[in-house]
Amino acid sequence: MDPDSTQQPIATPVVRTADRLQPFGTTVFAKISRKALAAQAINLGQGFPDFEGPDFVKEAAAKAIFDHPNQYAPLGGLPVLTKAIADRWREDAKTPIDHATQVTVTAGCTEAIAATILGLINPGEKVIIFEPFYDSYLACLALAGAELIAVSLHRSPGGDFAFDPDELAHAAAQPGVRAILLNTPHNPTGKVFSRDELHTIATLCCDNDLIAITDEVYDRLVYRDPFNPQAKHVRLATYNGMADRTVTLNSLGKTFSLTGWKIGWAIACPELTAGVRAAHQFLTFAVATPLQHAAAVALGVDDSYYGQLADTFRAQRDLLADALESLGFAFARPAGGYFILADHTAVSHRLGLADDMAMCDYLIDHVGVATIPPSVFYTRPELGRSLLRFAFCKTEATLHAAIERLGRMKK
Ligand code: GLN
Repeated sequence: MDPDSTQQPIATPVVRTADRLQPFGTTVFAKISRKALAAQAINLGQGFPDFEGPDFVKEAAAKAIFDHPNQYAPLGGLPVLTKAIADRWREDAKTPIDHATQVTVTAGCTEAIAATILGLINPGEKVIIFEPFYDSYLACLALAGAELIAVSLHRSPGGDFAFDPDELAHAAAQPGVRAILLNTPHNPTGKVFSRDELHTIATLCCDNDLIAITDEVYDRLVYRDPFNPQAKHVRLATYNGMADRTVTLNSLGKTFSLTGWKIGWAIACPELTAGVRAAHQFLTFAVATPLQHAAAVALGVDDSYYGQLADTFRAQRDLLADALESLGFAFARPAGGYFILADHTAVSHRLGLADDMAMCDYLIDHVGVATIPPSVFYTRPELGRSLLRFAFCKTEATLHAAIERLGRMKK
């Protein structure tokens, strides 16, 4: 019998997002990119380059599709890539690691963050995160049933961000704290944590038996210059006592302008790696095989590539920074990463706009430039209302066009 012929009333399905993800809605990056597209605004919101990654890496991927099997890679990653990651680590961190037991290849750093938190943090345990923070951190804690302790990066009158060591020590000493999640160079502030700051963090981790999770995706985008004469990326895992309690996360996307490839990795001692892999195997199991071959080729690049990359981004930073300063935005020039986090109050007062949300909407709808409202990166949104985040990982032509549009606000 045709089941439809019974004419039974059909119950409306109960369809809803799971409670633990309800508070997060749609990520700000997707929302702003959608709005930017609809309004034909220039997208200085979501942090992705509007130029292509290097041809030699793309060619390696195309070739790998034909030269190698296109089947599952091992769950830890293709040996050719895990070896390349371990080699790069040995050069950077000056310590050898075993590629087979200490490296896990993931679907971008975002999956590495999720796998690390889900694989190593128990429900009810607490994780310290500096705020403002990248939005997926808190959502991953919610997926794991873990709790956040936010420690503020306070903004100085000059626009630099720093934490209060006493506040951090107080947080680290709370019962149930399991980990500190650190992002350096930092999104959205552009801060590069100093040697002294990392020393403070390392000491607290050792004294309180915490693990550290470090998101270092902008490690090659550090701008040491008269604005930030001390800027240098230092890996927390290299501090005394930290090798066996740190999970270092990174990715190919930012360094090779291939954010759409979603190739990331986690480096940790074998015991921590076992936790990361326990989750990773059930999240994605393995990552696109041909892209792993190409990622291995990318990581074999000569060091001069990284220097040129940072020089290019520094020039883009300065192009946008000069324009924003002349328009009345206030900020310290970032020492690292893709973003300028600027105080907009001088501009928004002139325009009669109340906060970052209003400013962001106005810029998309009336100026044609999309930015990110940073209050979404705070547990206390009021701390971010006077700020706006601009991405400068764009071509000179895109930045010039955006600057020209922003310049019309003066009138
Ligand atoms: N990391 C990027 C940013 O901060 C966004 C990544 C994403 O959209 N998931 O803009």
